[in-house]
This record gives sequence, C-alpha cells and structure tokens, in this order.
Amino acid sequence: MRLLYTSDLHGSQKHYDWLLEVAESLKPDLVVLGGDLLPDDSAIKPETLGHGQPTYVRSQFRDNIANLRDRSACRKVFVIFGNHDWASSVPAMEELAGEGLVTILDHRRAVKVSGLSFLGYSCTPPTPWYVKDFERLDKPGDRAPLLGGACWNARFSRPVHHGAEVLFEDVKTIAEELALVSAPEDPWVFVIHAPPLGTALDQAYGHKSYGSAAISDVLKKHQPLLSLHGHIHESPRVSGKCRDTIGKTIAINPGQSGRCLNFAVAEIDVAAGAVTKIECGQQS
Ligand SMILES: [Zn+2]
Repeated sequence: MRLLYTSDLHGSQKHYDWLLEVAESLKPDLVVLGGDLLPDDSAIKPETLGHGQPTYVRSQFRDNIANLRDRSACRKVFVIFGNHDWASSVPAMEELAGEGLVTILDHRRAVKVSGLSFLGYSCTPPTPWYVKDFERLDKPGDRAPLLGGACWNARFSRPVHHGAEVLFEDVKTIAEELALVSAPEDPWVFVIHAPPLGTALDQAYGHKSYGSAAISDVLKKHQPLLSLHGHIHESPRVSGKCRDTIGKTIAINPGQSGRCLNFAVAEIDVAAGAVTKIECGQQS
C-alpha cells in the first residue's frame, strides 16, 4: 500500500496544486493530510474570525479534494486538524466526510483500510498563536502559558477570547486524552499534528524542541508501525532529518516550506506489518 503524506498546507493554493501534481504522478492508495489545512482568517477583520475557514472547506478545499480524488484515483483522503484550524471548520469537514470525500481521523476509534488501521490526533501543546480550539496543556500539572487566545463558541457563532488559565483549566491535557488510545490489533498508523518531544522532528530554529512529551509517551507505549507529524515546519531544515524512530515506530515530519511542497511517501507491506520504503520529497 502506498501512502502519500503532507501537512501544514495552511490553505495555500499553490501547495494544494503541488499536492495534486505529486498525487497524480505517484498514484498513492491513500493520501493523508496532517492538520493546519486551512487559511488563517484575517485578524485585521475581527468579524470574519472563525467564519472564513468553514467557507473555505465547503468551497476551495472541497474542490481541491475532489480533484485530488479524480486525478490520483486514491481510495481515501484522511485528515486531522491542527492548532491553526478553528473548531468552526469541524461541521464543514464532517459534511465532506458525509459525502465520502474525506475521512476525519481521531484517537478513540480506528479507521481500517485493507488491513491497515489509522488513528489521528489534532491537538498541540500551547503555542503563541491566537486560535486555541486544538491546543491543550501537555501533561497534568503543566503551568498555563502567559498568552491567552480564542476558542470557537458554537452557540454565539463567534470566537470568544479568554486568558490562558481559563482556556486550559477545565480542558483535559494531551496525556489525559491520549490515555483513551487503545492500539488496534492490525498494523496501524498514528497521524498526529504535533511531533514527539526531543526528536529530530520537533526542532525549531535555534534547535529548540517544541514537541509533546505526552505524544512521545503514547508512541513509546503503543508502538504504531508509523507515526506522521507536522506542526514545526522548519524541523527538517534544522535537524537535517525528516524521520526518527521511537522504539519500533518510524516517525516522520516532512516539514513545510513556502517555496515548495514538502511531503513523504511510504510503502507498506500490510500482510508483513512492515514499512518497506519511506522517502521525503519536495515538489515545486
Ligand atoms: Zn502549521
């Protein structure tokens, strides 16, 4: 089974066009998108915050995915969200899932394709960015960051700003949410927006580690065949690597760049439960 993975396209049409070109030439069985899929709503117009992304999902994103499915003939497109994505986009993405265009992955229920199972997880540890729907404290006892931000309020159909203590106080940590993971019996792949802490995959400029310790723990504990990450766009440029290993798990963060599409291709022998080939590439 051939799997094409990319992440952090942030609603950039040239990146979606490059993805289409790669998918058309590689003809993957599955395409996996690792979060931060949508454009940032402009903070210059506060009234549009949280409204632009669902509109984008129902229009350009939908067209991009429909084209991708037509031209690559892939069987499934798996998606998760990321820290830049508003929760207001979830119902729009669920509409696309209802049409069979995408499958939204989560950490509680595995999705299986031809003997290969998938789980997904969208949340990251706290960032300096404003959208907080998919951010969590990493572990119980972690201190809330200084900066607050906004979460989508579905009742009022607008984002509501809070300080960090309020945002994170009553929300489960990444470690607590991932405690619900039960590893599938089949070979499986875990798609997680944030990379594991202290690996070649979470390196920001200055060699600072911005990954999640809770994600590192869950990978050590459950040992999927493959874990696919994004979030830290510059990590492969800083560490010089787009892959690392955590026990038996091969972990990938192809990174992302403004000048080209960064992606990874994995060949998986499902019957043997083995990754037979993995490569990171760029398209421009
Ligand atoms: Zn991103």
